[in-house]
This record gives sequence, structure tokens and C-alpha cells, in this order.
Amino acid sequence: MQEKPYYCPNCRSNRVKFSIISSYSQRFLKDALSGTIQELSEPLQLEDQEPTIQCLVCSYTANEMRFIKQAEREPRAMTPTNPSYL
Ligand SMILES: [Zn+2]
Repeated sequence: MQEKPYYCPNCRSNRVKFSIISSYSQRFLKDALSGTIQELSEPLQLEDQEPTIQCLVCSYTANEMRFIKQAEREPRAMTPTNPSYL
């Protein structure tokens, strides 16, 4: 994930609330006859993929770059009297 502002290109009202959807790999051994799972490894996060981001306002889901590009096109207006992120 990049440390850059996001802006939802779908609802255009959300820059704050998001969810990251990542892929995990988890190894397991199955019993060949009964089908029961016998060993389960710790989940490993799959690397070097562009993260998938979901807007928690409208549930729009897309690659992280869509949200970053939209924030670059329409940056949040910052005024000197209100420099916080509120
Ligand atoms: Zn949205």
C-alpha cells in the first residue's frame, strides 16, 4: 500500500474510509479418504500485487491506483486556517 491520498472515483465523497482486500496463501494437508484437514499452515500474504481497495461508503472496489489517480486529479482543498486532516 502506498502512503498517498485516496479518493473514491465512484461516489466522490470518500477520502478516508477504505478496506484493503488482499490475497493469502495457506497450505494444508488433507486426509485422502475422509477429506478432513489434518495440518494447516500459517497464512502467508501474497506479495508484489497491486492491492485491491474497497470504498467503505459505496463499496466500489478497484486497484489502488484508481483511488490514487482520482486523488491526484481532485486533490483535497487545503486552507491555511485548517491544515489538519479533519
Ligand atoms: Zn465510494
